[in-house]
Amino acid sequence: MSEFPACPSCNENMTYPDGDHLVCPMCGHEWSEDTADSQSAPQYRDAHGTPLQDGDTVTLIKDLKVKGSSTVLKMGTRISNIRLVEGDHDVDCRVDGQKLLLKSCFMKKA
Ligand SMILES: [Zn+2]
Repeated sequence: MSEFPACPSCNENMTYPDGDHLVCPMCGHEWSEDTADSQSAPQYRDAHGTPLQDGDTVTLIKDLKVKGSSTVLKMGTRISNIRLVEGDHDVDCRVDGQKLLLKSCFMKKA
């Protein structure tokens, strides 16, 4: 119960969790645990929980529509030399020369 980070706004240690984010009752500041977690090295895992690293080769475990285009990446598509980035779409990669951001939960390490 004591590992909640101090409030990034006022530095009080009264932080408590509320749903999926943290709240400071002293100043009312709210922030997400993701932000707090980013202070430590982020962990990237594939759909099976296998850790991923920059330069890994992965395959897609389902068809993925590419946001903002009519492209559909087929299940089983092999993607090499991925780069891991922070964010909701945490895998930066190139498929058929197109630069894409995908989610690690839809792929498995090849
Ligand atoms: Zn505060």
